[in-house]
Amino acid sequence: MNAAICTSKGHIEYTQMPKPEMEYGEALIEVMYGGICGSDAHVYHGLHPTATFPVVPGHEFVGKLVGANGPIKAGLTIGDIVVAQPYTTCGDCEPCITGNDNVCTHLKLLGAHRDGCFAEYVTVSASKVYKVPDGVDPKLAALAEPLAVAIHDVRMSELRVGDNVMIIGGGVIGVFIAIVAAQAGANVTISEISEYRQNFIKDLGFRVFNPLDKDYNDNIKNIVGEDGFDVVFEVSGSKAGVQSSVGLTKVSGTIVIVGMCKEPYPVDTTQIFLKQIEMKGVRIHSQEAFKAAVNLLGSGALNDKLYKLISKQYKLSEINQAYDYMCNNTDFFKLLVNVGEENR
Ligand SMILES: [Zn+2]
Ligand SMILES: [Zn+2]
Repeated sequence: MNAAICTSKGHIEYTQMPKPEMEYGEALIEVMYGGICGSDAHVYHGLHPTATFPVVPGHEFVGKLVGANGPIKAGLTIGDIVVAQPYTTCGDCEPCITGNDNVCTHLKLLGAHRDGCFAEYVTVSASKVYKVPDGVDPKLAALAEPLAVAIHDVRMSELRVGDNVMIIGGGVIGVFIAIVAAQAGANVTISEISEYRQNFIKDLGFRVFNPLDKDYNDNIKNIVGEDGFDVVFEVSGSKAGVQSSVGLTKVSGTIVIVGMCKEPYPVDTTQIFLKQIEMKGVRIHSQEAFKAAVNLLGSGALNDKLYKLISKQYKLSEINQAYDYMCNNTDFFKLLVNVGEENR
């Protein structure tokens, strides 16, 4: 089959490799579209702490279910257009048996620890495959995974209708969180320093402030007064972002740590104590959140915004151009790879 393989740090090749074999409990998917994620860039640059080379990158995808080794879920049929949670879990560790398999101690991520979706075929756990509802554009279904991340983050935050929400970092995941939080009834504000992203965020209909502007604090006060936000999502992974989250959060508010930091950053624990702030980490997505993402895609409620997130499309054979663009530009949100193109 045709595939893109990260062979070593900074190298990706469009080449041929054998079609993957399914282990028991796995399903085979013929990939249609795959989205390039920030973590694919991490793998490519050799910055992913646990990824191994060679590896087929990519974990955000939609495709056709073409085979299974063992049972498939009720309601699924071979030939269905499907999406899948891009990780395998052991089923036996403490997180797995308590229903938190997104933090499984033996978690293996597609595109990092096992081959991912930038190939004609990919294998996944059959239990993590979901049928795409009829009428959903496969290109939007390719966004199910980052959408599920945002749904997981928003659910974990326990935000309520009418809450004031701050999202620090308006990149892809920050914007997905904004879309989901707004859908859940929150009054959303985004903090972002890139001018391209600020304009993009405004175009999506969200309020955005630059934390480097001198009137930033006044702008914040106009929204929440002296109180602060009910929920703050820290998505930037930056020192300034992490440290400012405590001051932005109101008494008894919640900080959700979504962004990965390069190194540990100190925060004002006295403020966390005095304001009785809850600070929690969230990772990937639960099965429940992924199912909800598929359901929400099926509703069509987010279509207008989701279409705007797709900045550019490449064929699988153009994977080098796609990675070049990703590495050398900042004026984009989601790059999509049309993996099925060669076969049509
Ligand atoms: Zn991703
Ligand atoms: Zn486990």
